[in-house]
Amino acid sequence: MEHSVIVTGGSRGIGRAIALGAATAGYQVCVNYAHNAKAAEEVVSAIETAGGKAIAVQADMTKEADILRMFTAVDSELAPLTALVNNAGIVDKASKVDGMSLDRLERMFTTNITGPFLCAREAIKRMSTAHGGKGGGIVNISSVAAKTGAPNEYVDYAASKGAIDAMTIGLAKEVAAEGIRVNAVRPGIIYTDIHASGGQPDRVDRFKSVVPMLRGGQPEEIADATLWLLSDHASYVTGALLDVSGGR
Ligand code: NAP
Repeated sequence: MEHSVIVTGGSRGIGRAIALGAATAGYQVCVNYAHNAKAAEEVVSAIETAGGKAIAVQADMTKEADILRMFTAVDSELAPLTALVNNAGIVDKASKVDGMSLDRLERMFTTNITGPFLCAREAIKRMSTAHGGKGGGIVNISSVAAKTGAPNEYVDYAASKGAIDAMTIGLAKEVAAEGIRVNAVRPGIIYTDIHASGGQPDRVDRFKSVVPMLRGGQPEEIADATLWLLSDHASYVTGALLDVSGGR
């Protein structure tokens, strides 16, 4: 059966690797992005060149209307939705909590928590057997920061990832009998542009000595875990928080 997946923030970094891997696994792919249309189109082209089907959809995860428009585009342009990867997420400049503005906190929580909740809501409406769907899977991209708390860097980010872990556990139980499995992957430090966006482009190499495996991870290593959780090989796995972090 043809089926599709939405990868939020599928244009760069971890999301890009997930989008490419999902296409190889046979999904039609919605490559979501916020600003960088060129990067998203490049992912779509790579999938099409390999014989797959994909669309790039601009939608800001902080805007409900954008999220609704993205799901409508998938409904009309791709095969039935059977998977959602809540991957889009942000960090901010390193700061202690006593220096965090309301603007920063609202942006962090709206992007990293509210957006994933709204996407999950829309995916459930399409996938749940209680809504006439055929079931499916949701993977939330969390972080080991949910365990470490990220002191002196971004406790707000860590707290947003703690919230997504709680959402994963609760939602997994809520929809388990409706044919939907909900899991989270918690990456360690991975080579992507997110660190530069937080003003620390060399962060992975600076911190890799605290990783038991003594190296940063690659986006593909997160994609492999994500795609396994979505696959039938993980058919009895739900509510799991899977650390993919080199032992951290
Ligand atoms: P990245 O390289 O900065 O890429 C972020 C992606 O998310 C881009 O595709 C970006 O789109 C998109 N995005 C950002 N804000 C968005 C918004 N408001 N609406 C829609 N899309 C948005 O990030 P990454 O390192 O791959 O991180 C992906 C996920 O992994 C995040 O949830 C992050 O917290 C988590 N994670 C990363 C690491 C790490 O070390 N890299 C570790 C633990 C967890 P544009 O290109 O259009 O901006």
